Amino acid sequence: MADRSSDQAATRTQCEKGIQAKKMLRLLCITAHPDDEAGGFGGTLLHYAQRGVETHVLCLTPGQAATHRGGARSDDELAQMRRREFAASCNMLRVTGGTVLDYPDGKLYQQNFYHTVADLTLRIRHIKPHVVITMGPDGSITAHPDHSMVSIFGTMAFHWAGHTNRFPDQFQSGVSAHCAQKLYFSTATFKLRERQPVSLPPFSAVVELGKEGLETKIAAFKCHLSQAPLFPLFEETVRKRGPQELFHLAASATPKKVEMETDLFTGIQE
Ligand SMILES: [Zn+2]
Repeated sequence: MADRSSDQAATRTQCEKGIQAKKMLRLLCITAHPDDEAGGFGGTLLHYAQRGVETHVLCLTPGQAATHRGGARSDDELAQMRRREFAASCNMLRVTGGTVLDYPDGKLYQQNFYHTVADLTLRIRHIKPHVVITMGPDGSITAHPDHSMVSIFGTMAFHWAGHTNRFPDQFQSGVSAHCAQKLYFSTATFKLRERQPVSLPPFSAVVELGKEGLETKIAAFKCHLSQAPLFPLFEETVRKRGPQELFHLAASATPKKVEMETDLFTGIQE
C-alpha cells in the first residue's frame, strides 16, 4: 500500500509540474484517416485555434486503403497524396501541429495493443494536452473499425499517460507523466443510412462553430481532393446538421455529475 500511495503522490507531483511547465492551453485530436480531422473535428479545431489554444492532430494512418484513389497508382502514392492533403487541411484549420503516423489503413484492429498505446502515450507526454478529443468506440457515426480502434487506443493512452507505472522506460528520454484533464468522444444525433448499426454516446457538449466555422470546415474537407467523390454527400450532411459539433465527456480528472457544456475547456486548470 505504501508503495502505491507514494506512486500516486509522485504522479500528482509530475502532473502538477507538467501543467506548470507551459501556461498555454493545448487541445489534442486523435483520428484514424486524413479527412477525419476536418469532417469530425474541423469546426472545433478552428474554434479553439481562434481563441489562442495550441491545437494538435495525430492521425494514425495515411489512408492508403481508401476506396477513392485520386488517380494514385499505388498505396504509397495515395499515402503521399493524402499526407499533403492533410497538411493543407490542417493549415486551413490553423492547427499548430498536425502529424500523420504510419499505421496501416483498415488494419488498426490487427495492431499490437501494447505498442500502439505506448506510442500514443509517449506523444501525449510530449504534447501535454489539457483536453483530448477523439472518435467514439461506436466508430464515430460511420462504424469504421479504424475509428473504433483509435477510440480504444486513444482512451488508454489518455489514462496511462498520467500513470508513472505505465511505460516507465519513456521517462529515461526526459518526458514525465502527464494527466490530460478531459477526454471527449465525438458524437451526433443522427445516423447514416446503409451503414452498420451504431449506438452513439449521448452528447454532453455542444461547440458552436458559427457560419464562418462551418464554411471553413467544409473547405478544409475539400482539401482532401483524392476523396472528391465524397464531397456532395459530406456537404449535404454537414449543412443539414448545422454549425455545431457534438461531444460526449468520456473522462474527467475532476469527478463530477455530467452537465451540458458549451466549452470543452470549462473547469480546466492551466
Ligand atoms: Zn475516417
